[in-house]
Amino acid sequence: MENQKPSLPQDQHPRVWRLPTEAKKLRSPSRCKQCGVLYQDGRWSWHIHGITEPVLSTLCPACQLVNKHQATGFLTLNGDYFLAHQNEILSLIHHIANYECEQHPLNRLIAIDKRGNGIRIRFTDRHLPKQIGHAIEQAHAGELRINYDGTLCRVSWQRN
Ligand SMILES: [Zn+2]
Repeated sequence: MENQKPSLPQDQHPRVWRLPTEAKKLRSPSRCKQCGVLYQDGRWSWHIHGITEPVLSTLCPACQLVNKHQATGFLTLNGDYFLAHQNEILSLIHHIANYECEQHPLNRLIAIDKRGNGIRIRFTDRHLPKQIGHAIEQAHAGELRINYDGTLCRVSWQRN
């Protein structure tokens, strides 16, 4: 009697295909257990009317990035003018970031870090730092630079 299963040689092992997290089909409706954003029919939203089915629990892509400290957009602000007008500029940044997150729940500000005599802000998306950079430039002049680095977007603004 043969009890032992013969083991396959390495190259004959069946291959296991695993989709990356982003490609996994999410069942809907789902609710992010961390931020509460809702997912239905391929769309993320803070409010979805008429959800009657039980809502499944998930972790939204934005919270996944926040938890992994994995930003895809950066905005660096520097200069004497920035330091003198910091509160005003930060309130503009928060205003735009809050509005954008209301409209596009996955576009978020992750954190603001002090860096030298300026700050660096990390975002979950590449659009928000650019949008905020343009708004600061429009309101306060200064020098704006936008660089794409692979899948990352690095924006810097400076006024002395
Ligand atoms: Zn979330």
